[in-house]
Amino acid sequence: MLRYQIIPVTPLQQNCTVFWSPETNRGGIVDPGGDLSLIRNFLSENDITLEMILCTHGHLDHVGAVSELANELSLPIIGPHKDDLFWIEGLPEAAEMFGFQNVETFVPDQWLDDGDKVEVAGATFDVVHCPGHTPGHVVFYQPEDNVAMVGDVIFQGSIGRTDFPKGDHQQLINSITKKLWPLGQEVTFVPGHGPTSTFGEERRSNPFVSDMALGQIS
Ligand SMILES: [Zn+2]
Ligand SMILES: [Zn+2]
Repeated sequence: MLRYQIIPVTPLQQNCTVFWSPETNRGGIVDPGGDLSLIRNFLSENDITLEMILCTHGHLDHVGAVSELANELSLPIIGPHKDDLFWIEGLPEAAEMFGFQNVETFVPDQWLDDGDKVEVAGATFDVVHCPGHTPGHVVFYQPEDNVAMVGDVIFQGSIGRTDFPKGDHQQLINSITKKLWPLGQEVTFVPGHGPTSTFGEERRSNPFVSDMALGQIS
């Protein structure tokens, strides 16, 4: 079992997640979008050594501090899927537009594909490619803990925006119902923004993707 800590970062309160093994205090970090001082403090207070940086997708609020953190701690950058390259290349421009500091583009050490596995902190995460919000968005699923880091694919009571370049609403719905729902109702997910939930709860109550909203049951 890993431990998980959500650290909301940037003015967009993006849920950066640090996870680690309580036995070794080694771990990983998902979507360090900014506010590195908060992240550094948490790591040092808990004596956690990071092994890698995982990226769900190329949006500024999720990966704005990836380059700086990777350089500082000599960490490999894993993900997202290569279809988000245009978002990552556009980071400096986006940073200027939104007033984010110290944002650089980066080249991931490994692009991810659907079905890939990522080994970190003695645990294995399954990679699920979930396009729709961005074309290269991936989800990281940890089967033993039944936890998924889903970025901006789905939120408690909502789903990701699809009005960006290469966004696609129907593709996002398919990603959620055909790729995430099969992982099981009991999965707890950490969304990119806002509170955690479970896939089962969203199948019951999410106005965009509940079974009732999609006409699966009457
Ligand atoms: Zn996003
Ligand atoms: Zn976001």
